[in-house]
Amino acid sequence: MEKLTPAMKQYLDIKERYMDAIIFFRMGDFYEMFFEDAELASRLLGITLTSRDRGKENGIPMCGVPYHSAAGYVSRLVKEGHKVAICEQVEDPKTAKGIVKREVVRVVTPGIALDENLLDSKSNNFIAAISLGGNSVGMAYMDVTTGDFRLAEFHDIESLLEEINKIEPSELILHEGMKGKQELKSMPDCKITTIPVHEFDHDAASRRIMEHFNVASLEGMGCFAMYEGTRAAGAILFYVAETQFSSLRHVKRLIPLYPHNYMVVDIATKRNLEIMRSLRDGSKKGTLLALLDKTKTSAGGRKLKEWLNYPLMDIDEIGRRQDSIGEMLEDRTLRDEIQARLAKVYDLERLVCRVAMGVANPRDLVALKASLVEVPKIKDLLKDCGSILLRGIHLELDDLHEVVHLISSAIIDSPPPNVREGGVIKKGFNRELDELRSVSSGGKEWIAQLEAKERVRTGIGSLKIAYNKVFGYYIEVTKVNLAGIPADYVRKQTLTNAERFVTPELKEWEDRVLGAEEKALNLESLLLQGVIRTVAQYVDRIQKTAGLLAGLDVIASMAQTADERNYTRPMINDGDAIHIIDGRHPVIEASMDERFVPNDLLLDCDQNQLIILTGPNMAGKSTYMRQVALIVIMAQVGSFVSAGGATIGVVDRIFTRVGASDDLARGQSTFMVEMAETASILNCATGRSLVMLDEIGRGTSTFDGMSIAWAVAEHLHDNERLRSKTLFATHYHELTELSMTKERVKNFSMAIKEWNGRIIFLRKIVPGGSNRSYGIHVARLAGLPEGVVARAKEILDNLEKGELDAMGMPRIAAAGAGEGVAQMSLFRRKDPLRDEVLELNPNEITPLEALQVIFRLKEIAEQEV
Ligand code: ADP
Ligand code: MG
Repeated sequence: MEKLTPAMKQYLDIKERYMDAIIFFRMGDFYEMFFEDAELASRLLGITLTSRDRGKENGIPMCGVPYHSAAGYVSRLVKEGHKVAICEQVEDPKTAKGIVKREVVRVVTPGIALDENLLDSKSNNFIAAISLGGNSVGMAYMDVTTGDFRLAEFHDIESLLEEINKIEPSELILHEGMKGKQELKSMPDCKITTIPVHEFDHDAASRRIMEHFNVASLEGMGCFAMYEGTRAAGAILFYVAETQFSSLRHVKRLIPLYPHNYMVVDIATKRNLEIMRSLRDGSKKGTLLALLDKTKTSAGGRKLKEWLNYPLMDIDEIGRRQDSIGEMLEDRTLRDEIQARLAKVYDLERLVCRVAMGVANPRDLVALKASLVEVPKIKDLLKDCGSILLRGIHLELDDLHEVVHLISSAIIDSPPPNVREGGVIKKGFNRELDELRSVSSGGKEWIAQLEAKERVRTGIGSLKIAYNKVFGYYIEVTKVNLAGIPADYVRKQTLTNAERFVTPELKEWEDRVLGAEEKALNLESLLLQGVIRTVAQYVDRIQKTAGLLAGLDVIASMAQTADERNYTRPMINDGDAIHIIDGRHPVIEASMDERFVPNDLLLDCDQNQLIILTGPNMAGKSTYMRQVALIVIMAQVGSFVSAGGATIGVVDRIFTRVGASDDLARGQSTFMVEMAETASILNCATGRSLVMLDEIGRGTSTFDGMSIAWAVAEHLHDNERLRSKTLFATHYHELTELSMTKERVKNFSMAIKEWNGRIIFLRKIVPGGSNRSYGIHVARLAGLPEGVVARAKEILDNLEKGELDAMGMPRIAAAGAGEGVAQMSLFRRKDPLRDEVLELNPNEITPLEALQVIFRLKEIAEQEV
């Protein structure tokens, strides 16, 4: 390549330090991109690729975007998963000697974006880091836009991955050594960034955390005991500092997370229950979240997601949420008024972040003020509330009137988006600014007077005084009037039919006016910075109030849904039973025009531990199981539930598994996945867990699948550690035989009725197994020839007979041949004759006793007939 220009040398120096980012290199009014960056960006953004030093053979590829519209381009690149480093001119080109100094002022990445274009207002934008140690694994995550910063530690990588998937980060930080590790294969789909391994160093991380929070030791901090978590948190602080170059003073706390305190809803279950995303298209539509989300603020929307992500296990805490929702449910007027106020509150968390990071604009400040103005009104509305949570919010809401006062007195009510053009600071806020403004506006008046005066002096009625950027103020006279101009006019410019002049007097005034204008602009900008700095000192207080409002928003939202949909308050206790009366599927019910048929449920650890639910396709089995799971989750979130009544012993984990071929969304029939998921239930469930198995075993051949289903059910019943409350929906009605031999198994089925030659689904759960010849029944209704139907019945009868062995025992239940009698005794069907025989010990009885036994056996046998 030929000798590089100084600007290109500067560019390459900078690029070397930000190899993984696209450099937006500021040149005048444009951001230029070069080399591969230019090729990539021109393709992604659809802008023309040109070349620097056009004409030369080795021209450097380049493309550019105007600086004032750069934000949109940046966000498009970041959305595609790229990083963009913004490189600005950091000195004034007018005063610079030689080439203008340039520096990267911030790097925009998917995980660290402040631009609204890149953020979903009702979701957090998390950046996460993980650290893998020998005995434990840690993670930390931060939402730079809200200041949330948390860490957690686990003993196994599955739990960590579960947690990572829950928060759906948009960027994940690893070190080089971790890339491609097999155990990290089920990482969420997000931008992966690697940083040097030494940035994960525990000492360095601790130091960085102490520095950030300005503490002398970590001991008082929640992360103290989390070695790996601390390393991950340190890595995040490093990375954010590296890319943002600005303070994170709104990140005030590092909160340790203890996932064991919450009900575990694993990834597959969450997806299957459509809590946050629908199976169909992954959107929010048709989810539990959408149903419950009546929040009025973005922060409330985010808080609701957090509640749904972390169902509680603490009965008292659940009770407190219920109390507050109950109060809001009953007092409709209060709820309406609060929601109307909340609707006027902007995203305080994100606004205060922009303030703290020094990127707030005048409109942000006005939005902040407008939101805070609502706080005393909301506080007042809550003054008579009795529930602990609402009282707490009432007492702790901080109206921050100093901030409101400052912004009101400093910033005009509807300012322009930035301070560049001025007109942001209110009159009366600063004396010097007011004076400069009066000079400049007075100056303009003077010019109008001068124009009038000159018209009189020259007698040229069309003479006018105007302004342009090149010449400043000038007097314009049309060519036909040129004869009348005075001698002190100095010619500046000739146009086709006019001439432009200046006079010494005009120029002198111009200097004063323009000088004052420029000074006023500079001063406004300084004053604005001052206001932002002052507001930044209130970051924690604003954040606290923001958090309280978000909580209030969620409570009101849940109360509204409960009111509209007729939900009831569930009883939560630490017992073993789940008892639901007239339960409904909350989401399906809401989307239906006809009536949703309610159903009861009783599951416990004694008589009703395992329910085998049979019934034809489309009868409503899956719906029933999902509604039970959803009701339990809603209950532990603190919400009211879609049931006539419910008593719920706290559940520690919910598992739902759907047989592979039934799981439409996943596309590829992955029987292996189905089995892996089933294995994880058998390994992780406890007596407090709720297990939902929907057509397990369906992904393989009938006998294969049925055998697996049977063995899994048996294991859930027999294993003392498990004894999980289980609902097992299956089309293998053979499984109903389990209830003959397993004491805690109950059979239920979906009722159907035949009417006018059609099958009617009653949607009602009834005790007992379903009719096994249902399929033949349907075949007959569908018009299969009578002969074929009759023959099918015959075959079925034969098969069914074959299912029972010579002793009348179900064959499927029978264990391996050879173990004979001992195994058979597993089945507790009463058989006194056999019992009697088994008790005999021929070696120990006398001939007389033997004779007596024979009489007795005959007696028993006769009784049985
Ligand atoms: P299955 O799992 O037995 O094949 P589904 O649970 O998929 O059946 O239910 C099929 C359809 O029946 C659902 O899409 C729903 O619209 C309807 N349905 C299910 N349960 C009810 C109910 N209790 N009341 C009204 N409609 C129901
Ligand atoms: Mg189903």
